[in-house]
Amino acid sequence: MTTDFLIVGAGYAGSVCARVLADAGKTVHLIDKRPHIGGNAYDERDAHGVLIHPYGPHIFHTNAKKVIEFLSRFTTWRFYEHRVLAQVGEQLLPIPINRTTINQLYGLSLSEDEVQGYLETVREPRDPLQTSEDVVLNSVGRDLCDKFFRGYTRKQWGLDLSQLSAGVAARIPTRSNDDDRYFADTYQFMPADGYTAMFERMLDHPGITVRTGVDFKDVRGDFPGSHILYTGPIDAYFDHCYGPLPYRSLRFDHQHLPDTEHYQPVGTVNYPNDHDYTRITEFKHLTGEQHPGTSIVREFPQAEGDPYYPVPRPENEALFKRYAALAEAAQGVTFVGRLAQYRYYNMDQIVAAALKTAQDLLDGSPAAAA
Ligand code: FAD
Ligand code: UDP
Repeated sequence: MTTDFLIVGAGYAGSVCARVLADAGKTVHLIDKRPHIGGNAYDERDAHGVLIHPYGPHIFHTNAKKVIEFLSRFTTWRFYEHRVLAQVGEQLLPIPINRTTINQLYGLSLSEDEVQGYLETVREPRDPLQTSEDVVLNSVGRDLCDKFFRGYTRKQWGLDLSQLSAGVAARIPTRSNDDDRYFADTYQFMPADGYTAMFERMLDHPGITVRTGVDFKDVRGDFPGSHILYTGPIDAYFDHCYGPLPYRSLRFDHQHLPDTEHYQPVGTVNYPNDHDYTRITEFKHLTGEQHPGTSIVREFPQAEGDPYYPVPRPENEALFKRYAALAEAAQGVTFVGRLAQYRYYNMDQIVAAALKTAQDLLDGSPAAAA
């Protein structure tokens, strides 16, 4: 088949690149082995008509103006600030830890300054901050670490905080004020008609051909002369020649509750210490939809299954570097995306990476995974 680009994966990485390349006059053939576009951000209506995220809750947030501007070509937005409570004992407490968390947990009534002073007395200073345990102990000390982070992390990753790179726990800030938003970014919105509708518009271009239900391994040889843009797991592209890169998987247990206005007070409730699942998300909070019932999802982390998260720790980074060296040496192929770059990237970071990769390709300096 003749096309300028064969793009593998119709998630953010593949779809953003497809659109930028097509806008520049290139022809693009975009495949995904799943039966739909959107990658892990795909959303759809469940059997009861509620808009859900089959691959777990996706909340859009960014500080990058160019990212929101690019996506705004394909969607309008609904203002939404995500809030999360953690069940600790009998209490539901704000996470990230803030003034309310500390006052309610310990039965105190500290001011903002006093919370800062309290954290100074309980934190265990660490330098350098190498592991996620260092990060959490350094900011909130052992008791809060054990109540909010250690159990959740053990469930989510199958590892102790001390076995994970600092960046994992560093995603969660600590606050001494009453700000109870999960994210502090400038732009916090959900696509008004959902993610899938946004992807449909992004890919609606005469230069783009989309084929779902097609695995790269079955069509690998069918595009001689096309540049390949690969967004799947990098180790799979190289037939796992150095052994498998660890990716963490999840099982999603979706449930619809009829005649229930709301199941829980906020979008997500985390369960750091109880149950086998990490969190429950109720989609109506995210989408603002009206429906007599409500739909929720429980996330059960597991080792086997579809790859969802790279596992940030030094030995995995070292293995990734070996694959990245192969990627750099490979001719006619470019790697971009959360699985291809083995980076714990949010949606907006993938959009930014894809915008840059596509522009580099157009400028004639193909970027490889790095
Ligand atoms: P993906 O979306 O994984 O797309 C890659 C695509 O490649 C897949 O569709 C896959 O089927 C396809 N593919 C792989 N191999 C092949 C092959 N051999 N042949 C054909 N197709 C192939 N980010 C946020 O910003 N906010 C959030 O709230 C958020 N929540 C998340 C919750 C969960 C549970 C998870 C797992 C991730 C979350 N993310 C969130 C991160 C977000 O999902 C990613 O940043 C983003 O979807 C990555 O896009 P991508 O294109 O790199 O990868
Ligand atoms: N985390 C935790 N307790 C919480 C929330 C997060 O221990 O209540 C830790 C855990 O290791 C998790 C990481 O912080 O994997 C990042 O959390 P985030 O909510 O960003 O994870 P994601 O939404 O990407 O699954």
